[in-house]
Amino acid sequence: MNNSGSPVRLATLGLSHETNTFARLPATYERFAEDGILRGAEVVRDYAESHATLAGYLEAGDWPGVEVVPLLFTQTNPIGTITSDAFERIVGEMLDLLRDQGPWDGVLLALHGAAVSEQYPDADGEIAARVRALIGPDVPIGLAIDMHANISPRMIDNVTATVVYRTNPHLDPRPRARECAEIIVRTIRGEIRPVQALEMPPVAINIVKQFTGEEPMRSLVSDVAEVLRRPGMLSASVAEGYPYADVAEMGMSFLTVHDGNASAAREAANWLARRAWDRRAQFVGDTPSPEEALRAAAAAPRGPVVLMDVGDNIGGGSPGDSTVLLAAAQRLGVRRYLQTLFDPAAAAACVSAGVGHTLSLRVGANTDTRHGRPVEVTGRVRVLSDGRFEEPTPTHGGYRFFDGGTTVVLDTSDDHTLVLTSRLIGNTSIQQMYATGVRPEAYQVVVAKGVVSPRPAYEPIAAQIMLVNTPGVTSSDLSQFDYRRRRRPLFPFEPDAVY
Ligand SMILES: [Zn+2]
Repeated sequence: MNNSGSPVRLATLGLSHETNTFARLPATYERFAEDGILRGAEVVRDYAESHATLAGYLEAGDWPGVEVVPLLFTQTNPIGTITSDAFERIVGEMLDLLRDQGPWDGVLLALHGAAVSEQYPDADGEIAARVRALIGPDVPIGLAIDMHANISPRMIDNVTATVVYRTNPHLDPRPRARECAEIIVRTIRGEIRPVQALEMPPVAINIVKQFTGEEPMRSLVSDVAEVLRRPGMLSASVAEGYPYADVAEMGMSFLTVHDGNASAAREAANWLARRAWDRRAQFVGDTPSPEEALRAAAAAPRGPVVLMDVGDNIGGGSPGDSTVLLAAAQRLGVRRYLQTLFDPAAAAACVSAGVGHTLSLRVGANTDTRHGRPVEVTGRVRVLSDGRFEEPTPTHGGYRFFDGGTTVVLDTSDDHTLVLTSRLIGNTSIQQMYATGVRPEAYQVVVAKGVVSPRPAYEPIAAQIMLVNTPGVTSSDLSQFDYRRRRRPLFPFEPDAVY
């Protein structure tokens, strides 16, 4: 109930995109449509049983006296900048629905926090501002965002309460969204008055240091837990930021939501930021080269050694077709080696050849020249599949249904197994392998294209996980990117930055 005694009526909507402004492939309307622009009941169908943000929001609709109305939600792989056309059409439709189906007691926004459109470098801030302008200053808005968010003051100023995931890999989008919904419902009922504080120290943390299960992030997350125990603290967050979005707000940020006391919120955000700043020397990348990593993996007493292909981090906007590790493995004679490659043409050639047949072909590196060169292989087609699989356990982001498109398992004469996909898909679920009959456990070296997101899938079977400094649009070597819009000074680019 709201304070007039009728049910609390909440709209939920969102456009979620992690934009790699260095990636070439733009996020067009067609891209979003292909991955699904979901309206109304379609949102429930695809997300209610997932572990994603939307699931947490929808769950609030089961609370007594609360109604949650899903309007529109869409997301697509982290690729390049969102086109103006896609942004205006999607956000325009979202706002039309919000206007036509109102009035609302509150709004629950599902954004990523690192979205960039051609027109708006701070696309999330623009969406928040438009929603605020439409519904007016008095209707509470909740925002649940990804831990990779580059949070801007504009995002925060246009919403009532912001909650950031507290795990990377992201296993908690659903409970964080629920936490956000609860703050909004309690605000509507007049039980609390959230005030937010955002602190943006001039620091970026390397992608290879972002796993929350290890230092330095483990300590930063436990600092957040400490702040959460303070009286009146409604939420507290550390956003790691997303270094491949070249925007002014790129970098880490610290956010608190307090019940009524702005200075308590500010003091806590400052404390979190200061603690992180003091650890900044630990935020810098330090990973082995492809050759070093492959030699160590091949020589390891026990497999599989899972090599994270950091430069071809599909979850970070890479093309998924890097051959850097494959070519090095071929050159070094590394055996019992498994990896995926996004290569629709190679998959089609294998489909034409048929199961059980042997063919020679060039694979990978079709997108650009930053991710190696096509590699010549000769292999036997073991399996053809439609590439669809389902992941019942919470993995990165909480998604459940996956579609890699026509997928081929090819065993090559190098004693390598290549899983060729026809759609761009990350390695975040081990079901991707099991669904095609591949047992990664049987290999000495398994490549996962990512940094942190493949951990829930591969940690249970890995003898060891190693991050590799491969080149690419998500390379951990940030010095190779030509930033135009980021803040200066920003540590570690400017090591003398002060805070
Ligand atoms: Zn993320």
